[in-house]
Amino acid sequence: MTQDVRVRFAPSPTGHLHIGGARTAIYNWAFARHHGGAFVLRIDDTDPERSTTENTQAILRALRWLGLDWDEGPEVGGDFGPYFQTQRSESYADALEHLGSNGHAYPCFCTPEELDAMREVARTRGGFSGYDRTCRDIPVEDARSRVDAGESHVWRVKVPADRGDIVIEDAVRGRVSWPADVMDDFILVRTDGTPTYNFATVVDDWKMGITHIIRGDDHLSNTPRQIVVYEALEAPQPVFAHMSLIFGADGKRLSKRHGATSVEAYRDEGYLPEALLNYLSLLGWSIDDKTTLFDRETLVREFHIERISKNPGVWDPDKLDWMNGVYIREMSAEQLLERVTPLLEDAGLISAGEADERRDWLLEMVSLVSERIKRLDEVVPKVGFLFRSSVEIEESARVKVLEKEGAEAALAKAKDVLAGVEPFESGAIEDALRAIPERINVKPKLVFQSVRVAVTGSMVSPPLFESLALLGKDEAVRRIGSAIALTSG
Ligand code: GLU
Repeated sequence: MTQDVRVRFAPSPTGHLHIGGARTAIYNWAFARHHGGAFVLRIDDTDPERSTTENTQAILRALRWLGLDWDEGPEVGGDFGPYFQTQRSESYADALEHLGSNGHAYPCFCTPEELDAMREVARTRGGFSGYDRTCRDIPVEDARSRVDAGESHVWRVKVPADRGDIVIEDAVRGRVSWPADVMDDFILVRTDGTPTYNFATVVDDWKMGITHIIRGDDHLSNTPRQIVVYEALEAPQPVFAHMSLIFGADGKRLSKRHGATSVEAYRDEGYLPEALLNYLSLLGWSIDDKTTLFDRETLVREFHIERISKNPGVWDPDKLDWMNGVYIREMSAEQLLERVTPLLEDAGLISAGEADERRDWLLEMVSLVSERIKRLDEVVPKVGFLFRSSVEIEESARVKVLEKEGAEAALAKAKDVLAGVEPFESGAIEDALRAIPERINVKPKLVFQSVRVAVTGSMVSPPLFESLALLGKDEAVRRIGSAIALTSG
């Protein structure tokens, strides 16, 4: 690419970072990194009622969590700032001034009532329903003096009368065209002086030197208006790439009904940023027809806009879980422990600082569960029994296992033999327990199940022998003793 690539992600801070927005950010970031260009983050905070600093912070946090760094924008600055639309009024005023003087925009004094009446006429007549251009032909001098006198007005773009169809060569969708004759002289600047989305966006993208606009196709319908603004400003047009939105398996646009929609909710549910990045990248883009697992460097190296699909990405929670499980299994125990430590601390299973003191033990603990989980939030419920000072035996486990005939004898024997296992390691523990069934004539399953319930409180647990080893001899024997007391009591 001859020109330096500059792309932007421009979220409106009216909510947290949505996974659809995250995908847009990923594509822009990967495209910029692939071409050695700039990834700009701009905050489109023009909606004063719904934009909050808190949301902006949450968006920045989520982007960082995903590992998406920006070259220009909030907290990092840059030569094209400010990077908040609310701080760019001067830029919009300059652009409007330019359009006013070159005749591409005009003030419109029509009142809301007049506009309503106009729409009503259009509705009954049928046909063109946009603004009827009443103010377009007010002589410039008259318009100017009415503005100077403080008469309430908006500014509208003057769509050229001879403008033919509006055509773009979209990098994803190919040629897209719109007939110009249905385009009305839409508003650029409102009565209160604030710019509309289509005006602010174009002014910013132009002033920020944006070369490619990669965004969801929910914005495709805005594009012809934006083209008209580029032309009015005599600004070079960027390349547009509109990608399909993400849909649920039911064919409806992804929404809360399909599960969590914010990136941070996925973080809290125990998804890894690497896995979510990998998964989201594939919702509408691919390296080839077979590669599913790849790291960040591969994404950057392979990111070609031509590989963005025209078809909608379909959200598949099972695939995401599967992928997350793969990423978890690929991690070393050290890496996994690093991710899991805050969760153990939050759950009160360890105190701050304990992670270092008990590092070896904790590494064994995470290795025990890493093969069996798809999400990090599964760890705490699975290993809680290893940390607590006593187990609460689930009622169903008590009835189904501990009350079985022979269970008490099996536990008594297990307590006995385990007390003699030295060193208390999983192999030796296994040998000792496996010898029991023959000696007291019970089924092996009964021995293992009753010991499992006695020490974990539940019929499902991480592997038994390793769990016992992690618990330590004294604690294991003590718990079995309590279970015996429960059964005989
Ligand atoms: N702030 C707009 C949004 O969040 C940006 C749209 C665009 O990319 O032009 O939808």
